[in-house]
Amino acid sequence: MPVLVMKFGGTSVATLDRIRRAAKRVGVEVAKGYDVIVIVSAMSGKTNELVGWVGETSALYDAREYDSVVSSGENVTAGLMALTLQEMDIPARSWQGWQVPVQTTAAHSSARIEDIPPENINAKFADGMRVAVVAGFQGVSPEGRITTLGRGGSDTTAVAFAAAFDAERCDIYTDVDGVYTTDPRVSPKARKLDKISFEEMLELASLGAKVLQTRSVELAMRYKVKLRVLSSFEEQSDDAGTLVCDEEEIMESNVVAGVAFSRDEAKMTLVSVADRPGIAAAIFGALSEGGVNVDMIVQNISEEGRTDMTWSCPVDQVARAEKAMEEAKASGAINFAEMIADTDVAKVSVVGIGMRSHTGVAAKMFDVLSAESINIQVITTSEIKISVLINRKYMELAVQALHDAFELDKAA
Ligand code: ASP
Ligand code: MG
Repeated sequence: MPVLVMKFGGTSVATLDRIRRAAKRVGVEVAKGYDVIVIVSAMSGKTNELVGWVGETSALYDAREYDSVVSSGENVTAGLMALTLQEMDIPARSWQGWQVPVQTTAAHSSARIEDIPPENINAKFADGMRVAVVAGFQGVSPEGRITTLGRGGSDTTAVAFAAAFDAERCDIYTDVDGVYTTDPRVSPKARKLDKISFEEMLELASLGAKVLQTRSVELAMRYKVKLRVLSSFEEQSDDAGTLVCDEEEIMESNVVAGVAFSRDEAKMTLVSVADRPGIAAAIFGALSEGGVNVDMIVQNISEEGRTDMTWSCPVDQVARAEKAMEEAKASGAINFAEMIADTDVAKVSVVGIGMRSHTGVAAKMFDVLSAESINIQVITTSEIKISVLINRKYMELAVQALHDAFELDKAA
C-alpha cells in the first residue's frame, strides 16, 4: 500500500481533544488506503519547559542527559496518539526513535539523521498495522544514547521518514494554513502561496520564516520529497495548504516569491585592521572557532594599509564574537583599533527564483527603501535572494513597502 507521512506540530497535539482531531485526519487517509506514518511533536510548550528544567538543574549540563530529558515530550504524544487511533479501531502502535531505529550522529542536541532502516516498521505494516506513530525530534547515536535533532527537528524527522519509506507525500500539519509571501502579522496583505520551490523555501526558512526547520527543506530538496504545509485546524481538501516542490512543477510564479526578515541580528565592525593577505582568514577563522555564525561580510576600502571589517551575526553571539576577537588580538594574530557592536539591526530579504532570469530586482529594492528614507547598512546577494541590513525600527515598514512594490498580494 502507498505510504503517507503526516506530521503534527506542538499546537496540533496540545490537548487530548486536539490529538483526537489529528487522529481523525489520520483516519481519513487510512480510509483512502494509505499506510500512514505519523510523526508527532511534544505538546506545545512542553519542550521549552523541559529545556528550562535541565538548565535549572545544571548550568553546564551533560548534553546526553539534556537529550534524554528533552526528547521525552514526544514520547508522551506518540503513545497518546497511538491510543487514540486504537480507540477508533485503527491498528496503530507508537515507536520511539531508538526503536525504529532512527540512527543519528552523536552530536547531542543537534544530531543529524544518518539512516532509518525501514524493516521493523514495514514488517508491522505487512502484519496489518495501518499507522506507525513515531516520536519526532529524536534518534539514537552510534553509542546507543538518545539524541535530539535541534529545535523544530520533528519536521526533519518527518521528511527523513518520507524519504526512507518512499512516501507519496509528507504533510506537515501546523497552526498556519500554509507558506505566506511574508509574515501576515507584519504585512496584512501577505498571501498564501499554493506552491513554492524547494530553493525558495530553503532561503525563506534560513532567512527567518519559521514554518519549517531549514534542515527539513534541505532534505526534502535532496530526496525530492513532496512537502505540503497545512493547518490542522481547518477542514482540508486535497489541494489545501502550500506544496513545496520542484520548480519544474510550478508553471507561473512571481519574480519575487516572498519577503523574509530576521529581527535578531547584530552588526559588528573592527576599526582599522591591517590590510594584508591573510587578515580575513585570521578574523573569520577565529570567529568560526569561537562558534560565531557569520552571515554578511563587508571589507571597506583601505587607506594607508588599514581597513575596517564589518560582519553580521545573530545578536546572541555578540559576546562570543567579542571574546574571540579580543583573544585573537592578544595572541597577535590580528590587530585593530576599536570594536563596535550594533545590536539594533534587522535583516530584510527578497527571495525568488525569477531573479535568475530577471534583472533590476536589486535596483527596485533599493529604490523602495530609499523612498521610505531607510538607510541600507550592508547588502548581500545570491542567485535568488537579496538581503539588506537596516535599523531594526524600520523593519516592519521595509517589509510592507517591499511586499507592496513587488505586488506580492497578487498571484502571477
Ligand atoms: N518539540 C521540539 C521543539 O519544540 C521539536 C519539534 O516540535 O519540532 O523544538
Ligand atoms: Mg515547528
